[in-house]
Amino acid sequence: MPQLRFRAVEEALRRPQISFEIKESKISEIYGINVFDREKMQKYLSTEAFESVVSAIDEGRRIERKVAAQVAAGMKAWAMERGATHYTHWFHPLNGSTAEKHDAFFSLGKNNMAFETFSGDLLVQQEPDASSFPSGGIRNTFEARGYSAWDPSSPAFVLEQTLCIPTIFVSYTGEALDFKTPHLKSLNALDKAATEVCQFFDKDVKKVISNLGWEQEYFLVDEALYNARPDLALTGRTLMGHAAAKDQQLEDHYFGSIPERVMLFMKHFEMECYKLGIPVKTRHNEVAPNQFECAPIFEEANLAVDHNQLLMSLMDKVARMHRFRVLFHEKPFRGVNGSGKHCNWSLLTNTGVNLLSPGGTPKNNLQFLAFLVNSIKAVHDHSALLLGSIASEANTHRLGANEAPPAIMSVFIGKTLSRVLDEIEERVSDKKMTPDEKTELKLDIIGKIPEILLDNTDRNRTSPFAFTGNRFEFRAVGSSASCASPMIVLNTAMAEQLVNFKIEVDKLIAKGVKKDEAIFQIIRKTIVASKKIRFEGNGYSEDWVKEAAKRGLPNIADATEAFTTFLKPSSVKLFNNFNVLSDRELHARFEIRNEIFIKKVQIEARVLADLAINHIIPTVIAYQNVLIDNVKGLKDLFPNDSEFEEMASPQKQTIKRISEHLRNIREKVKEMVDKRKEANQITDIAKRAEAYSKVIKPYIEEIRYNIDKLELIVDNQMWPLPKYRELLFIR
Ligand code: ADP
Ligand code: MG
Repeated sequence: MPQLRFRAVEEALRRPQISFEIKESKISEIYGINVFDREKMQKYLSTEAFESVVSAIDEGRRIERKVAAQVAAGMKAWAMERGATHYTHWFHPLNGSTAEKHDAFFSLGKNNMAFETFSGDLLVQQEPDASSFPSGGIRNTFEARGYSAWDPSSPAFVLEQTLCIPTIFVSYTGEALDFKTPHLKSLNALDKAATEVCQFFDKDVKKVISNLGWEQEYFLVDEALYNARPDLALTGRTLMGHAAAKDQQLEDHYFGSIPERVMLFMKHFEMECYKLGIPVKTRHNEVAPNQFECAPIFEEANLAVDHNQLLMSLMDKVARMHRFRVLFHEKPFRGVNGSGKHCNWSLLTNTGVNLLSPGGTPKNNLQFLAFLVNSIKAVHDHSALLLGSIASEANTHRLGANEAPPAIMSVFIGKTLSRVLDEIEERVSDKKMTPDEKTELKLDIIGKIPEILLDNTDRNRTSPFAFTGNRFEFRAVGSSASCASPMIVLNTAMAEQLVNFKIEVDKLIAKGVKKDEAIFQIIRKTIVASKKIRFEGNGYSEDWVKEAAKRGLPNIADATEAFTTFLKPSSVKLFNNFNVLSDRELHARFEIRNEIFIKKVQIEARVLADLAINHIIPTVIAYQNVLIDNVKGLKDLFPNDSEFEEMASPQKQTIKRISEHLRNIREKVKEMVDKRKEANQITDIAKRAEAYSKVIKPYIEEIRYNIDKLELIVDNQMWPLPKYRELLFIR
């Protein structure tokens, strides 16, 4: 048995010879080479088709059938030049991955003549069998069929000789079965609401887009070691393993030099990213050993989400070529940092103004303040739902674990901006301001805002939602999650808040209050109403947990509890009003989250039971037998009782301790299996998930505790699974 571990270690130490060779080509020369972007469209499409696609992207217009046929022909011609033989609709089902079903362009005509064909109909819509994707009950009552429909706002691309067409994925009855559909709807809602508020400041604003810049954290593990850890392979995380003597205490990994073998992998996947138009820009080590991060230049949010999904699948593929495995699990190793996916979010007008960036003019600054304050209020109003949007079984291991923001939403804006908001709160009132007061306010507050930019060193890494100078950074998102899930909530919540803001300002204007003053007054009102979500201190501290409880902020560490926020009346109203998710869709999502949660815990429980009973216990007994033989031998050698006791008592104690741990493990495994059977009887899926969370998960922890203790006792030579020091430090 242990041979497997040592063979794996040996193999990992033998640096794999990667035949891959990085051509140091200029990035600008290969950037987007496999993307059917505007430049290529212009070349391969008729003027009519080109203009129609562009207006579909920019204005959300529909593409006519006739035009679709032209686009399909152009796309096919281009894709075949890039070596494509197949095409697929590419979508994001609710299991969080990406899905594709490849079809060949190849077809047979009359007389068995071979052709390559791709029609407009096939471009625009397809009917993949939806029955293998989670639907949360939507397909129980209706047909299993679903269809995928082209999303022209995300360009098609060629990957591994297949033309991939980004699509939405909906049930036959029109319900969304993916992340993209509601995300696009939320972006639309926000565009509309934000544009209307911008009209207070600038009549030229016709469109507001959301920008998203994600930061992707991940671990790398040598493939041989990975394969020798069934828990990693089957659950994505280690279910056992004592901490290594050294892990991240010295903080010597962060920003250290990137190991050569890892660097080769990074360069390789980055090159693949560039070809697909993913603008990756930053790479560095992360806090934990073998943990790294990659971040692109931000992009329009829908595209950014697609690119993040694509990046994760590219990284997975390229890692295998380098005999690594990339881990996107939020907490693959106990005791060292987990991985997140920070989502940097900002709003940009068609006139080129970042609404979350203080601008040069007083008018722009007032606009900035309005958007800042409304963002805070949006998070305030739907803080629990935001937690729900990022909740998953895996992310619960990370949130609140003293390395990641706690499971309490709060907003950090920095000292200077806090002061600005406080001053507005103090100095603005419902009474009519004198011209002098107004001028003073403008000079004192609005005039000084650009200086904030210089102050942007004022950063708080412990906040789940932090303003960082020209954007908000949502840090609680899990590394394996689709960014779309939190973005759907954020965008819709912001749309709701902006609509309310406009209504209130308009009301005052109708009463004869001057526009500027009306805006000031409502900004003040918004500041007051959302004050309790603002927190500038250490988000990891115990004090904050207490303080947040006093403020009445939700603290939802349990994922199954977080899922219930989907069904809160305020959430249902929010999503219904903006036509982002219907009741049925919300319920479906709620069910799917619970279902995935249950399955994840179920798999972990099974894997752990197998490892405990079939790997650990036999090893431990074998080692115990060695000790027993030793004790017996000592008895032969030292028949004198007191002498024997002196020699044998440490071993005897160890034998006892081993027996205790063995008994615990056996008992707990049995109980866990029984409790699972009980839990499986619960018909209500949410209650079943809750049982899995509250009853089953603690068993996983207890069993692990005993195994980890045994790891410290048993002969290293006999221990069957690669240890943390091997998994984390061999690269
Ligand atoms: P840090 O680790 O300091 O947060 P990184 O450089 O790792 O910084 O990541 C910053 C991320 O924020 C990148 O993805 C970047 O594209 C993104 N970003 C920068 N400015 C904006 C903006 N205005 N809107 C959205 N995202 C932005
Ligand atoms: Mg960051």
